Amino acid sequence: MRLVILGPPGAGKGTQAEFIINKYSIPHISTGDIFRENIKNGTELGKKAKSYMDKGALVPDQVVIEIVQDRISRDDCKKGFLLDGFPRTVAQAVSLDAELDKLGTKLDRVINIDVDSSILVERAVGRRICKTCGATYHIKFNPPKNEGLCDKDNTALIQRDDDVEETVEKRISVYVNQTVPLLDYYAAQGLLANVDGSKDISIVSEDIVKALEN
Ligand code: ADP
Ligand code: AMP
Ligand code: ZN
Repeated sequence: MRLVILGPPGAGKGTQAEFIINKYSIPHISTGDIFRENIKNGTELGKKAKSYMDKGALVPDQVVIEIVQDRISRDDCKKGFLLDGFPRTVAQAVSLDAELDKLGTKLDRVINIDVDSSILVERAVGRRICKTCGATYHIKFNPPKNEGLCDKDNTALIQRDDDVEETVEKRISVYVNQTVPLLDYYAAQGLLANVDGSKDISIVSEDIVKALEN
């Protein structure tokens, strides 16, 4: 299974990714998580990425492309992977196709989580994440068992710096302008599976499995 999960910020990509990687035993490759890990560790890459992320802008293609090329050529990706948050531009998608071609393989499916922009801001602003294990919660739609604490490791949950209303709005407009063209790109390859992301988390998971298995 070589999969890409697409959708606007706050659509539920990370939430569904956690479910998909457990069900199909494939690695989860989130470029946003890779950048946040680098920011946490104070690396040069982290500093560079943060300057774009805090504005809601995209990190330059060349930076992201190199990271993903390196990551998908590792041994644990031989049986498949789930890319989350990449590609985000047509240039990234073209480079991904070229890299997979070099590795003698191709994508099997692209899942698009479709959510109306009117509910994205509430989803993103209410998101809380665990710095230790990466788990994602929502203060209203998917709260942890104990308020403010991760179910898995009891770490205090935090809000992402870019999950404030103004930056979320910016990220949505970047998505519309730069990432939406990928829907046509993948539809033309016959890879696109659209899933209604406005339903409950568990229903969206079921719909993804149906899309992957038919
Ligand atoms: P993305 O990775 O696409 O930015 P997330 O998976 O982090 O999105 O989800 C954004 C927020 O919305 C999180 O707080 C998550 O708990 C919540 N969420 C995800 N899917 C749903 C859903 N189907 N219904 C309601 N809230 C959801
Ligand atoms: P995400 O965790 O997917 O919401 O990504 C958070 C931020 O990381 C984005 O707003 C971008 O600034 C940056 N980012 C993540 N993935 C990419 C990508 N494929 N291309 C460019 N920037 C990215
Ligand atoms: Zn945790």
